[in-house]
Order: sequence, then structure tokens, then C-alpha cells
Amino acid sequence: MRLHLSHRGKPLAPIVVSRGASEPERYAADELRRHLTQITGAPFEVRETDALPERAIVVGHGALTERLRPDLRPNRLGAEEAVVECTQDYLLLTGGRPRGTLYAVYRFLHGLGVRWWAPWATHIPRKRNLSVPVQSRREQPAFEYREPFWYHAFDGDWAARNYANGHRPALTSRHGGKIEYVGFVHTSFWLVPPQTYFEQHPDWYSLIDGKRRWEKAQLCWTNPELRAFLVERVRQILRENPQAQIISISQEDWRGECQCDRCRAVEEREGSAVAPILETVNLIAERLEREFPHVAFDTLAYWYTRKPPRTLRPRPNVIVRLCSIECSFAQPLERPDNAGFADDLRGWSERCNRLYVWDYTTNFSHYLLPHPNYFVLGANLRFFHKHHVRGVFEQGAYQSHGGEMAELKAWLLAQLLWNPYQDDARLIDEFLRGYYGAAARYVSDYLRLMADAARDFKMGCFTNPADAPYLRYPVLRRAETLWERAERAVQADPDLRWRERARRTCHGSPQPTKRRSPNAGYNALPPKVPTAGNLSPM
Ligand SMILES: [Zn+2]
Repeated sequence: MRLHLSHRGKPLAPIVVSRGASEPERYAADELRRHLTQITGAPFEVRETDALPERAIVVGHGALTERLRPDLRPNRLGAEEAVVECTQDYLLLTGGRPRGTLYAVYRFLHGLGVRWWAPWATHIPRKRNLSVPVQSRREQPAFEYREPFWYHAFDGDWAARNYANGHRPALTSRHGGKIEYVGFVHTSFWLVPPQTYFEQHPDWYSLIDGKRRWEKAQLCWTNPELRAFLVERVRQILRENPQAQIISISQEDWRGECQCDRCRAVEEREGSAVAPILETVNLIAERLEREFPHVAFDTLAYWYTRKPPRTLRPRPNVIVRLCSIECSFAQPLERPDNAGFADDLRGWSERCNRLYVWDYTTNFSHYLLPHPNYFVLGANLRFFHKHHVRGVFEQGAYQSHGGEMAELKAWLLAQLLWNPYQDDARLIDEFLRGYYGAAARYVSDYLRLMADAARDFKMGCFTNPADAPYLRYPVLRRAETLWERAERAVQADPDLRWRERARRTCHGSPQPTKRRSPNAGYNALPPKVPTAGNLSPM
């Protein structure tokens, strides 16, 4: 049984929104109109009405949805829950507020075969006669906070279409907003600037070798006067930033922790340097909970504070962001190579109500060089989810276009952050076929070549190229051959050739640039927005 939506390029049902629909719900209807029109060639339109036509595509909430499914009121759905329901007479795309309906539209379009590979590359299938099977689907994202932190992923439309809701993308009110941090990380000196406070309050800063210091130092987190100050400082910031959902209260990005007796005693009691900080964050979270019930108070478990404390528990409104910076990223984080991190993750998972992970997905010393973590990203996200991690920040090459396999990694991470139990190897194949067309098999062989060469290597996120086995000459020679074949395979298609060249220049071998397209390059955007739908469907 199917619902027919278009026939020979003519729409068979209007898209309707109720008068009470929200801004993201109206935008969702418009996104649906745009895409359905491209798929079918039929001029779909959006109508605002409270009268239900005989056959219709109903988007969002209001009188129409109320009539069709009174049980699906927004307050009965998760904030990002997506509902796709189809009978022979109507298609209902709705969801929780603020973003559920928009995600329902994107899940529906995904089901039709639409893919948003990169802001400049969308696949639109062509179907003049479009019908969809009768169905009823409800989905929720696996993680509440989803941030594939790659430069091109900051595009708001791309982010929304791939379900990213993190701090950095240009997601606006029409996208239903995002998770807003105020003060993202390493915020302690933003909260208590030494230039302003050190002279008067040296004892708010670290005692190191018998002297109070602030350069390359931290706060003296257990100081009662400092704690009282922080409560009021955070209160003031939150009053000035009513949009904030999370505030970060976190250590600076160096050592220099306080050695005073009070800080030491707390550390020793709890067996971790996180304890003086977490005690303070707990206190702030407790004092401000009533005034800011919608805000979470975030701190890091990073480097020397990574180990969970013995008895101390983060309050329910505290987020701990656990960082994987010391790990080897050629092997899954669950494997013995990364046992220390995995143990700490399990430990935090048992103690923490809202555990987030800050994970690293590129080589931060050399964004352009191969970083063959392609086949461990899925396993890592499943590991996080199994241990009740609720948010993931996947830090990649975020300062410009051109990081190695940036398009693949950002897209893959976005899909897996929505649902990590998808088959990641199949997602990779799907992306390569969709994005690289006829060059896909060679790019796929290249990924395997690099990953195999890295298999037993401790591949940090600041790896020195001189040590990397996948950057030795025999491997690079084979890689170069694969890229040559890839280039030949897409010679006739300027869009695909651009995509292939932009990647090839990143794989670390000498660049044979004689025939290089003038538009290819690390920082270049494509010469034009490539024609949508010019690729074979997956
Ligand atoms: Zn101290």
C-alpha cells in the first residue's frame, strides 16, 4: 500500500502547515517543498490552513495534526524526536519542539535517497512518479549533543540536514536553534582574569613551589572566597546570556595545578586532580540550580584531571567532558592500546549523569596528512553510547577547508551521531560512491591501504609524520597510483574531478600538478555549486 505524491511531474497532494506552526516547522515545510520539487519536477506548494484537504502532506503541529493524531502533541514527544507517518491519504511529518519536525522532514527525504554530502554536494534522486509506502516511524537521536567539528560542517543548512546541533554551526531560529554554550572551554581565566584579580587576591591562584602564581598556573579551586566569587560571577554571566544552555567552568590548557594543603588534601582523598575543580563546579551548580533550571554546568576530565574521583559525584546538572587526547586513534578506543582511557570512561559513566566526550579525529599538527582513523569512528561512537555518554564533540580540522578526508569524516560522524548502530563500513562505501562517483573504488582502496599500514601504530592526534608507517615511500607510491586511477576515472566530470583533486593533494606525496584544475586546492570552494543529482544513486 502506498501514498502517491506526484504523477508525471504533477503534485498529487499539497504540503500543509497549521496556523499555529512554529518557525522551524514552517521552515521544515519549505525544505520539503524545495526538495520534493527537485526530485519530481512537480511544483509542490505550501499552504497554511486549518482545513484538512482530502490528500495532504501535513508538517509540524497545530489543528491538522491534532485532528489526525491527537496523541502526538509536542509535549508528549522528545525535543528532537522525529515522527514519519504515512497512510493512503496523508503523510504526516511532525516531531518534538524545537527540532523534531525538521528532523522528520530530513529523515523522510533521506529515505527517498536525498544525501547532503557537503555544503557544495547534494544528491537528489529523480522520480517523476513518486509514491511512498504506508508506514509509521518514530526516531530519537542517540546523543543529545552532536558536534562533528569540521570546518565545512559549520554551514548551518548542512548541519541541520545532517542532524548536528552543536555549539559552532550557524544554526539559527529557523533550524530550531542548537545547544548553546557560554564559554566553551578553558574558561577559568575568563571567569577570574588574573590581570584584574591576581594583585588583590593572589591566593585565588595556584601555589607552586611555595609561591602564588598565575602564569601557566590554574585557580586555587578550593579557596572558599574564590568559590563564593565564582558563584556570583557565573550568575551574572547567565543573566546576561539567557540563551545559554551550558556554561563551561574549566581548567586552562596547561598544568600548574595548585599545591596548597587544602587542594592537595581533596586531591589525595579522591585520588584525582579533578576533585578540587569538581567540588567547586558542584557548588556553583547547586547554588544556581533554582534560578537556572535549564542550564548545565560543564567541566573537563582532561589530561591530568581525566581520572574519575573515588567518592565525589557530579551533580545531576553538571556535565563532565571526558577528553581522549592521549589515545591512539588507529585502533578503537575500547581496545587494550587505549585501556587507560576506556577505564576512565567506564568510571565516569558509573558516576556521572551527563557524560560528554571530547574526541579527536584529525592530526592537529598536519591537517592535510593522512590520518587513517576512518574505520574506528563507528566503533568509538558505539562504545560511547554503550556507556551512556550523552554528548560528543568530534574535533577535526576546523580552521579551514582541506583536512584529509574532511568531507567523508564530517558526514560519517554526523550520521553516526544520530545513530551509531548503523553499519559504518557501508556508510563509508555509500559516501564514496555518492561523492566520488566512478573514482570511489580507488578512494576506497586508498582508505584500506592507509588503515592497514597504520594498524599497529600508535597514532596520536599530533603524530609526527617521520614516525608514521603509512607515510613511508612504498605505501605512498601505491597511494599515488590509486589517486592517478581515481583521476582518470572522473576525467570527464569537472565536479567530481575537483572533489578528487582536492583530496588527492592531501595525501602527502609529491604533487604532480601539471594538469591541476585552477580551482583545486586546500582552501578553495568548488568553482560553482555542482549540479545536484548528477550522480548515480547509491
Ligand atoms: Zn589550592
